[in-house]
Amino acid sequence: MIKKNAGFTVFALLVLFLFAGCSSTSQSEEGDEKDEQPILVQGPMPIEAEEFAERLDDVEEETSGNFVFYKGTVDDYPVIVAKTGKGMENTAAATTLAIEKYDPKAIINQGTSGGHDPDLNVYDIVLGERTTNIGALKTGDRDKGEGIEATEWIPMDLMASEGSAGEDPDAENIRYYKGDQQLLEAAQAVKDTHEDGKVVEGTIGSADLWNNEVDRIEWFHEKYETSVEEMEGAAGAQMADAYDVPYLGIRILSNNKTNDGEYDPDTAQSNQAYVYEVVKEYISTQAE
Ligand code: SAH
Repeated sequence: MIKKNAGFTVFALLVLFLFAGCSSTSQSEEGDEKDEQPILVQGPMPIEAEEFAERLDDVEEETSGNFVFYKGTVDDYPVIVAKTGKGMENTAAATTLAIEKYDPKAIINQGTSGGHDPDLNVYDIVLGERTTNIGALKTGDRDKGEGIEATEWIPMDLMASEGSAGEDPDAENIRYYKGDQQLLEAAQAVKDTHEDGKVVEGTIGSADLWNNEVDRIEWFHEKYETSVEEMEGAAGAQMADAYDVPYLGIRILSNNKTNDGEYDPDTAQSNQAYVYEVVKEYISTQAE
């Protein structure tokens, strides 16, 4: 009899422990900062991502394909730094993967760029009020022997319809992705923290292309109103738009062919220092 009772007591205690265990786990998860949607900060090259990753607290590294995700916190808020690799394809894939895996609250795509605006100098920063793909183009109609005339090329919007972009006159437009207003406001609020140059709003043009022809750069600057060019922003913006995730490009000039601005790789870390301030500002507005 005594034995039976003891068995029952042990069983009851076990059940009690199990329930207590369950409820305390779910409670701590609810209150845990890890449950909040993270902010995703993307950088293409090691020099454009690792400096930011080092600023994170409690970092865990996760690799998927070519992509490295540094999962940590800033001011106790979850922030993930993604080293995406260079170019449009890497960026589109890394963005989609991160959206599916981590459900980010917002995405900042940041790094270096080449100036299209002669008023902008190396170390100036452009906030992407707009981002556009400057590699999506349709050539003029020319027969054999009629040559190649790049200034005749017209923009091609692959998202205009599901039909043929080659035949559709509605597809002959420039598609601009707008930077998220709340992210822009956070970036504007901390402009003064960037002492290496000025911070302006502008248009970021992206393609797997490095333009060194100043006439061609001017052509983009006039036709697309680009402030800078780089190789990632529009790919990330297109994916963020597809999933309706707030997005902003933040690009520092590492070179500017239009005013003899020589390439300086140290700009990459200056931009990350500024973006760190933007992220902290954005987090503080989320708490309100
Ligand atoms: N010059 C560098 C290579 C950078 S490769 C070196 O030799 O190490 C291109 C990367 O820099 C891309 O991620 C792109 O986003 C950025 N970039 C900087 N300036 C650029 C420019 N003028 N045109 C295109 N991409 C540029």
